[in-house]
Amino acid sequence: MPYTAPLARITHTLDRIARLDDLAATGAFPGYDRDLLAPILEEANKLARDVLAPLNSIGHKQGARLGPASLGPAGVIASPGFTEAYARFRDGGWMGLAFPEAHGGQGLPRVLALAVMEMVHGANLAFGLCPLLSFGAIEALLAHGTDEQRAVYLPHLISGRWTGAMNLTEPQAGSDVGALKTRATPNGDGTYALHGQKIFITWGDHDMADNIVQLVLARLPDAPAGSRGVSLFLAPKFLVNPDGSLGARNAFRCIGLEHKMGIHASPTCVMDYDGATATLVGETNKGLAAMFTMMNSARLNVGLEGVGVGEAALQAALAYARDRRQGSAPGVAGMAPILHHPDIQRTLASMAANVQAARALCYACGAAADFAEHAPDPAVRAAAKAREDLLTPLAKAWSTDRGNDVADMGVQIHGGMGFMSETLAAQLYLDARILPIYEGTNGIQAIDLVGRKLAHDKGAAMASLLADIRACAREARAANLPAFVALADRLDPAADALSGATEWMLEAMASDRQTALAGASAYLRLAGDVAGGFYLAQAALGERAAPGPDADHALALARFFADDVLALAQGRLAQITAASAAIAEMKALWV
Ligand SMILES: Cc1cc2nc3c(=O)[nH]c(=O)nc-3n(C[C@H](O)[C@H](O)[C@H](O)COP(=O)(O)OP(=O)(O)OC[C@H]3O[C@@H](n4cnc5c(N)ncnc54)[C@H](O)[C@@H]3O)c2cc1C
Repeated sequence: MPYTAPLARITHTLDRIARLDDLAATGAFPGYDRDLLAPILEEANKLARDVLAPLNSIGHKQGARLGPASLGPAGVIASPGFTEAYARFRDGGWMGLAFPEAHGGQGLPRVLALAVMEMVHGANLAFGLCPLLSFGAIEALLAHGTDEQRAVYLPHLISGRWTGAMNLTEPQAGSDVGALKTRATPNGDGTYALHGQKIFITWGDHDMADNIVQLVLARLPDAPAGSRGVSLFLAPKFLVNPDGSLGARNAFRCIGLEHKMGIHASPTCVMDYDGATATLVGETNKGLAAMFTMMNSARLNVGLEGVGVGEAALQAALAYARDRRQGSAPGVAGMAPILHHPDIQRTLASMAANVQAARALCYACGAAADFAEHAPDPAVRAAAKAREDLLTPLAKAWSTDRGNDVADMGVQIHGGMGFMSETLAAQLYLDARILPIYEGTNGIQAIDLVGRKLAHDKGAAMASLLADIRACAREARAANLPAFVALADRLDPAADALSGATEWMLEAMASDRQTALAGASAYLRLAGDVAGGFYLAQAALGERAAPGPDADHALALARFFADDVLALAQGRLAQITAASAAIAEMKALWV
């Protein structure tokens, strides 16, 4: 089943939601020209469709493996074809699309790179994880690296010659990163020696690139306990000589690969550090701040994985529904393709609307990051930063939850075939399941949303989003067309529900944090639903003003989502505010 990027929908989202032309008008992207957009997206589609998608099933069946001892300590061998595919990705310059030209990048808007990565993830989730981790490493070095670290590592990471890995997790330190035990001891020459073990390290070792730049969280000898005593270190697989050439193999290796339910081609490594040479990134004991730079980049990209896998599931389901004949349908001679059955149509509509809402949320978040960095007006930058911070947990958690829902619906459309190992629908369902777990579980995202993002600014960023939602509803109503008035009739009460939930949450966070946290995931769900419905409506309004090739589709998606999802918003408000008492009673039975 070939994956083909939905270029019209992606372009529409870049225009209507990410406001790519406004971004270009900031003057921050001299290398960007509107005429470049279609060729870039088309080339990315060719890579995704013709190179990466054909390897998806191969990677599922023949995952990455630990090589024989004769290969020495550099043990992990990528799935068949992946090394060649990575070379195509690297040589196409895809890694550096949005990174600064000063370090060898192309200086294009970040949201454009996100659109490209959506295609990569849609075609091959396991492959996409490798550049995803490199993005995080690059962002961390750009923000926190020394001049020397940037000079030595960034050109190689940005060109894709070397890749990055993010090494946080240990057996006792998962969500609670502060519990980590890996030690860093000063060598006396400005470098450190790392001792310890990390688990679950994605693409921690492989043979697709010349070097792997590991960013490792560890604890210095005199560090305070907990997360305040965590520092970030850089340890390359091969040490780099003063002339830039590769030197000795560093003292760490992959000692095992996890056997997983999905993303088999993405090696999930147990890494052992036996005095590995490392340099400090950022300040001592401030590793969590540096880590969050990596994680914020990665969280948005993981949200996009939800979009990509959802889009792939939708395409597979649609193709199957056109092909598979069962039962009869009005106007169809003989057995009808199941696509003609209203229940299948409803499921496909739900898949399409949720994927598009997730895409819009992720692109809105990416564009906010671009405006936060590049808008000339400081007030616009500050507002965009607040929007980016608010949307990041939504983009990560809501989009990956929907990616799972959509993959699940895709299996259902395939009937019994969806349960067969060889179908893409089954693989996507298995692959997608990790998305709500890594890069901070979705439960942790919900705590971040209500704990940090809401409470920190007393709801100001959410109030600003709600003001935009209400303005959108007013504009829809003013269009004075039944379809748009119907949209406004859904948006307004949904905004009321989110506003009420926000007030309740702010009050509960101040007075009874445990009760508030019991509602956090439900709050995130409501916020994502309402924001998603808003972006779809906004896009439909934009298409009405200046119709593009996706105009009819945009309105249909917005209307379906409004009727299917926004209509439930008031019920979700009760889910947040009313359930905590019952949860407390049930807790008494368990704890
Ligand atoms: C395939 C795969 C790839 C990965 N790649 C990487 C990688 O490249 N680098 C890396 O460092 N790590 C990686 N991880 C680790 C991943 O980020 C962790 O698994 C994740 O952060 C959750 O940690 P945990 O598994 O220890 O679960 P736990 O932290 O034990 O969580 C278990 C459950 O408890 C909940 N929970 C935990 N704490 C709280 C709390 N305070 N309040 C409310 N609920 C809570 C969680 O939401 C979850 O539902 C990967 C994991 C997998 C499976």
